[in-house]
Amino acid sequence: MKSDSFKKIKKPQSINFALLKHFLLLAVLLIVFVEVIFFIVVGNIIEARAKERLTHVGREVAVFVGGKNEAAISNFIRSFREEGINVYILSTEGKILLPVADDENEDFCDEIDSIKRRLENVGFGGSVIFSDKNNLKYASRFGNNGGTYLFATYSLKIINGAKNVLLVYFVVLGIVVLLVSLLISFGISQKLSSGINNLSATAVRFSKGDYDVKFANSEYQELADLSDTLNSVRDEVKKSDDFKRELLANVSHDLKTPLTMIKAYASMIREISGDNPEKRDKHLQVIIDEADRLTGLVNDVLSVSKVNSHMDEINFKVFNLTEFLYGIINKFEYLQETQGYNLMVDVGASLYTRADEEKIGQVIYNLLGNAVNYTGEDKTVYITLKPNLSGDRIKLTIKDTGRGIAKDELSDIWDRYYRLKETHSRPVKGTGLGLNIVKVILQSHSFDFGVNSEPGKGSEFWVDFPSVPEEIETQ
Ligand code: ADP
Repeated sequence: MKSDSFKKIKKPQSINFALLKHFLLLAVLLIVFVEVIFFIVVGNIIEARAKERLTHVGREVAVFVGGKNEAAISNFIRSFREEGINVYILSTEGKILLPVADDENEDFCDEIDSIKRRLENVGFGGSVIFSDKNNLKYASRFGNNGGTYLFATYSLKIINGAKNVLLVYFVVLGIVVLLVSLLISFGISQKLSSGINNLSATAVRFSKGDYDVKFANSEYQELADLSDTLNSVRDEVKKSDDFKRELLANVSHDLKTPLTMIKAYASMIREISGDNPEKRDKHLQVIIDEADRLTGLVNDVLSVSKVNSHMDEINFKVFNLTEFLYGIINKFEYLQETQGYNLMVDVGASLYTRADEEKIGQVIYNLLGNAVNYTGEDKTVYITLKPNLSGDRIKLTIKDTGRGIAKDELSDIWDRYYRLKETHSRPVKGTGLGLNIVKVILQSHSFDFGVNSEPGKGSEFWVDFPSVPEEIETQ
């Protein structure tokens, strides 16, 4: 057994779920990515600002102290405390010289060595910025002889506090974005899946034989296209179903008449006319005619279903249309002899065309049969076959002198099983399928055809064949 026959079939997912899942995943990824980037960038900016501020304060203090008394300097220095910056003037041992004693025990004796070391390579007036766990620190040499130090600290708690506020803000924003994307994806998936669910519910009704269903349109192009396609499928199925019904009803009705006749005449021969050769022959002829009618009907039904389902291929070949037409006209000779019909023929010599000979035979036979059936009292049918002036087309016309066809019925006569209401005793039996067979065959050849008719005066059916030179070989 082939390995792919073991392939697992994945359980189908609902569009709602798939859309929601992917939308959320995308939203989360995007939010995390954007927030991490922002947080790093903004965090760095906050830190850089803090360093800038600390340096600025250091320089401001250095400028301020020139010529001021200690109290003024202390006050000035203290004024930065509200923003979290502590500024000190330190002795060379790390004792706090200014601001004057807040707390006498506080000193920076442990820190002073590290400050000195950091300032070793920095010229007078230069400064360093560094940090430990808790503070961002600033230091520079101070005083004319450089024996004291300006030292400032900026609590990292404040900086981190600002970062945390930012983090909370980003998280809240992220949640809001996530909720909004959840709502949007839910809305889209609801709309999409409700469109599909509608179509599928309609399709279920359709599959149960309700041909009046309408596949609803959608605001989404693909679904709208699908609806259009399904609506045309519905129309086609409805048409073919109507046709099947109609055909079945009509055919069974048409089959009944000849069968009743055959049965009645057969019984008559058995019971009455069996010994009378003249009567028996007459009755047998009725049986033969009715059997022919049955055969014709069955053939037409087969033809119409074959040509309409396009199962039949068109076998193009070049043939002599003139001879071919005469061959068909000859089949109608018995009508001339037995029933006084006149077939007036005006046919050009040796006109060749390229078509499916057998199918064109059906076309001509049906048109001729109709002309004979529907012609007027004079029982005359005119047949012409003529090339046009440029010689590239050949026109066949079959004209009768009958009642004609009303304008509003002209387009319907080509439909399957269309018959004008009026009953008519016809020498050539019809099924109402003939003109539809003619139409489908000529359309599949791409030949022009039509009918001109004047009620009360008669109808002229015509077909336009391509004219080809005799020597072209059949392909
Ligand atoms: P049918 O077997 O009934 O003749 P067709 O398909 O050949 O079926 O023709 C369809 C209908 O068109 C006919 O029933 C008839 O009403 C009308 N029709 C066809 N040919 C003619 C004609 N030459 N003159 C008048 N009516 C015609």
